[in-house]
Amino acid sequence: MKFKLPLLLLAIACLTMGAAAPVRLTPVKIAEGVYMMQHSGGSGNATVVFTNDGVVVFDFAIDSADQTLAFIRKSTDKKVKYLITSHSAGDHATGSMHFRDDKPIWIGTKNQIHDFQMQELKDFNERKNSTDPRFAAYKLGDLGQPDIGIEAPTTIYLGGLTFQITPEGRGHSTGDLTVYIPQKRVMLMGDLLDTEIHLGQGESGEIFYSNVKGWIQILDNIMTRHLPVDTYIPGHGPAHIGRGVKDLEEQKRYFVVMRDEVAKMIAAGKSLEQIEKEFKIPQEFAHYTRPERLRNFYKLFYNQLMETGY
Ligand SMILES: [Zn+2]
Repeated sequence: MKFKLPLLLLAIACLTMGAAAPVRLTPVKIAEGVYMMQHSGGSGNATVVFTNDGVVVFDFAIDSADQTLAFIRKSTDKKVKYLITSHSAGDHATGSMHFRDDKPIWIGTKNQIHDFQMQELKDFNERKNSTDPRFAAYKLGDLGQPDIGIEAPTTIYLGGLTFQITPEGRGHSTGDLTVYIPQKRVMLMGDLLDTEIHLGQGESGEIFYSNVKGWIQILDNIMTRHLPVDTYIPGHGPAHIGRGVKDLEEQKRYFVVMRDEVAKMIAAGKSLEQIEKEFKIPQEFAHYTRPERLRNFYKLFYNQLMETGY
């Protein structure tokens, strides 16, 4: 999801924080040479993987990827060889220009590229041409697009590591991909996994895409692989180092439990408006942050339940 707030909410947020808090990415060591750049405001995380032959960067937002690059420059004299984007949303795929001096190869799914051309580019250029100071970073360069659009599992080999890139299909967005690095026992999930935070609807240029049934199917598909993964790195929220598949199980349960709650309210005759007002977050997810992100999901659950019955 994007870093977008309705103006009123933004004003309230600014008042409560004194001023808009600057975006901060904090490197968190996941495994030797693998660092998640955790977003201070709960927006999109990035991941950096160092190898002897160069660096791989997974996800980059225009307003924070300069911090990812600074961390890389401080840590190694090797160049950024590959960029990989989990999906086309602004908080994951708009900052490629920060890395242009290294001339990396950018890999995404073919669907992501379609979303870029059809929606995200227009949104990006509107922000670029805006005088709103919140969008100042957009003057840094063009949106660009992946050099390679994949439609099937693809493997890159770099510096002794294997990066297994899998287009997982439609779930959070139209074309989420994951990256499994067996030597590091990690898997980069993008927004297919958020931790301790309510889920965001996949979105590109303000068009919303998430499909709960597809998302659950993807989580099932990944769990069925029984990979020896210590840590699934989330697109938003903190990494649970060493928690393994339990994070995926919790993510799936979130959908099932929340959707069931909405189904019960529909059965009791509640309208969407009543559900939005009266919904009580189940205890096991009460500690999740950013409840404002639920609003899109009430609508999604409601419409999908009314339309298809599952
Ligand atoms: Zn996101």
